[in-house]
Amino acid sequence: MLISENFCLKPFTTLGVEVRTRQFIVVASVSDLKELFAEGFLKTKPRLILGRGSNILFTDHFGGLILSCQIRGKEVVEETDDHLLLKVNSGEYWPSLVDEMVEKGYGGIENLCLIPGKVGAAPIQNIGAYGVEVKDVIESLEAFDMTTGELKTFNREECAFGYRSSVFKTREKGRYFIVSVTFRLSKKPKLNLSYAPLKEIFKNRNEKEITVKEVSEAIKKIRNAKLPDPDKLKNAGSFFKNPVVPKELADKIRKKYPEMPYYLQNGNKVKLAAGWLIEQCGWKGKREGDVGVYDKQALILVNYGEASGKDILQFSRKINASVIRKFGVKLEREVIVI
Ligand SMILES: Cc1cc2nc3c(=O)[nH]c(=O)nc-3n(C[C@H](O)[C@H](O)[C@H](O)COP(=O)(O)OP(=O)(O)OC[C@H]3O[C@@H](n4cnc5c(N)ncnc54)[C@H](O)[C@@H]3O)c2cc1C
Repeated sequence: MLISENFCLKPFTTLGVEVRTRQFIVVASVSDLKELFAEGFLKTKPRLILGRGSNILFTDHFGGLILSCQIRGKEVVEETDDHLLLKVNSGEYWPSLVDEMVEKGYGGIENLCLIPGKVGAAPIQNIGAYGVEVKDVIESLEAFDMTTGELKTFNREECAFGYRSSVFKTREKGRYFIVSVTFRLSKKPKLNLSYAPLKEIFKNRNEKEITVKEVSEAIKKIRNAKLPDPDKLKNAGSFFKNPVVPKELADKIRKKYPEMPYYLQNGNKVKLAAGWLIEQCGWKGKREGDVGVYDKQALILVNYGEASGKDILQFSRKINASVIRKFGVKLEREVIVI
């Protein structure tokens, strides 16, 4: 297997910062992983799996081993009149998979179109958008244990999915290389139009006549109007998660800002819109050097050119400090900082 030394990672993340890694290896199959394990490479510290790099910020050169996930291929493992179990290898590109399934009329992932990552990363933070999370369609996944060299199957419960979270981001962080994910897609789709702008678009339509393709096209229009295309403007999507706070705190903020969007959760908790909080602190469209907040969506930090990872991290800390000062709410990063 080819090991590249002192390898430039700039094209391998959507924030496009100029950093190098000590070693870089393309993983194209489970056999590659077995070979790397047998030769002791997987003991390298630090070591990191990279998908499309659309949720990662490198703040410095990486002094270890990057495993670039490029295991391609997919197969139907079960098909009935109602559903399809589709096993997809982790190096497949997520947006292409969604488009292909939507084109075939299979339902379940149409709301998750245009999320620019690879399939293997989708369960890591349980990607979500427009009322749907990928956990809703994951039947199981197969992962290579980099500490024992064995393959393990995880069912949905074992993945311990949460809001932008899973067991692979918490208890088992860094241990498993996801090699494939099996999705349960529906041939008789039940659409999720709970997101308000979607409801509005389809308000005069009979839900039974709306197709998954129409939903996906509507979402693409909404996304393209407010999210920057990372191929044109470097970014990593939402930089922060939407904070979930005690209801008392949300009520206190709403007294002063009655227009604040909020979403009731279980257990006397309330989810707030991080983008709204950031916007209220005056950050929307602000730029310092080559780092800025996107002018159409305050949750997105943008690299306008040659910003370094440290510049972006520093800028994000200033944003967080001002949100804490104004609202008493601490934002948690969604982007993984290395
Ligand atoms: C414009 C834009 C819009 C976005 N919109 C959304 C959105 O609507 N919803 C959403 O949830 N996210 C969104 N994202 C974030 C991001 O696209 C997703 O989190 C995506 O799943 C990351 O995939 P990736 O392949 O780029 O992963 P990376 O960024 O390469 O990696 C992310 C994490 O997963 C790990 N990882 C990657 N592959 C594997 C593997 N095979 N096995 C084990 N670990 C692995 C990495 O080590 C890292 O910890 C957006 C990003 C951008 C740039």
